[in-house]
Amino acid sequence: MDHQDARELRSRGMAATGRRLLVLRFLRLQREPRSAAEIHACLRSHGDHIGLTTVYRTLAILVRADLVHAFKRNGETAYRICNRGRHCHLVCRGCGAVTEIVASGLEPASTAGFRIEEIYGTCSACLESEPPVRPGTGPGPGSSAG
Ligand SMILES: [Zn+2]
Ligand SMILES: [Zn+2]
Repeated sequence: MDHQDARELRSRGMAATGRRLLVLRFLRLQREPRSAAEIHACLRSHGDHIGLTTVYRTLAILVRADLVHAFKRNGETAYRICNRGRHCHLVCRGCGAVTEIVASGLEPASTAGFRIEEIYGTCSACLESEPPVRPGTGPGPGSSAG
């Protein structure tokens, strides 16, 4: 809700400007991370006259405030609203879907001063739509052809 977004911004000492609330509201409706260009195009198509540069600037501010998390996706940056608290992200290489996990099992890493933010893999939906790949089957460098 807008009120909540405004509160979140103000609690971080930031002004709850219309642009920030607009971008936050849009991202709350998204299940998957969206790039700045996608956010810009969608807002424009809904009649919001916001410039791409403003979208980039607003996103950078929201990321710095830890309200939005940024992900690398096929060489571009995509953005997503996350829950509060420390978590890391399971990012699907196939569809870009993001799942938040509280990774208590990764404590040894943080003890070593290493912060894990993203773990890349393939989500269950993508695994189901892919044919199973087994090592040793099918043509490949290891097959004996004559
Ligand atoms: Zn996150
Ligand atoms: Zn996937």
